[in-house]
Amino acid sequence: FDQLDGQIWYNGAFVPWAEAKVHVLTHGLHYASAVFEGERAYGGEIFKLREHTDRLIESGRILGFEIPYDADTIDAACSELLRRQGFSDAYVRPIAWRGSESMGVSAQKNTINLAIAIWQWPSYFDPEQRMKGIRLDLAEYRRPDPRTAPSRAKAAGLYMICTISKHAAEAKGYADALMLDWRGRVAEATGANVFFVKDGVLHTPDPDCFLDGITRRTVIDLAKRRGYEVQVRAIMPEELEGFTECFLCGTAAEVTPVAEIGPYRFVPGDITRRLVEDYAAEVQPKRLAAE
Ligand code: PMP
Repeated sequence: FDQLDGQIWYNGAFVPWAEAKVHVLTHGLHYASAVFEGERAYGGEIFKLREHTDRLIESGRILGFEIPYDADTIDAACSELLRRQGFSDAYVRPIAWRGSESMGVSAQKNTINLAIAIWQWPSYFDPEQRMKGIRLDLAEYRRPDPRTAPSRAKAAGLYMICTISKHAAEAKGYADALMLDWRGRVAEATGANVFFVKDGVLHTPDPDCFLDGITRRTVIDLAKRRGYEVQVRAIMPEELEGFTECFLCGTAAEVTPVAEIGPYRFVPGDITRRLVEDYAAEVQPKRLAAE
């Protein structure tokens, strides 16, 4: 992935893709002092760009550092890079990390770096399986207690258990894994939030120890616009048996129907289908008709 064509925005400059490197003694690599975002551009515009940029800056603050660029500068860098890369639909990955000026847990004087890369990532899950519903395993690892890790930050360190869980699921032939939280409640997948449907009502876990996804909030708005009731609440795994539909949502995953979670089965129905469509319509740039 480090040899693609194009450019990467790196600390204020546009550099050739293959030259956007870090030193092996980078604090972010050794101690996970890194935060990132995942954004998608549709029709040449990045969906909810400012919300992502604000979350990036806030994630850095939660880890104790200030990204040395303001939100306007970061937004402009993302938009200009999208234009330079020449993509209309693409995935956008800003990442901020502590640099390599000193080694050790404490890194008070290390510089804070910011890079942005943009590439084409049409489908997060296998496109053929996607509308039939993907299959999820139940993960062994649990989302940590917010007193154990800064769970509101989109921090690289929190993804260690996601990669382990996703690899374990893939080794068993599943597309992804559903993670419980530290209390044993249903939490989220390894890179997306989860919703369930029962008797025409949507149910989704309260994001009190995992990422409150921007897509999750968008889907709640879309569901309410359709007149659906949305219950944000604690969901126990024993309840999975009673739900009829299930889907994941996230910037990369968009709205993806789920057919299986471990022993439980779901059938993508009208509500899931409508939300897949409503989300696809919502992400398109709202340009005033040129007359
Ligand atoms: N949870 C996790 C662990 C994620 O990685 C993501 C993707 N960023 C989400 C939820 C969904 O967040 P968003 O809708 O903001 O992309």
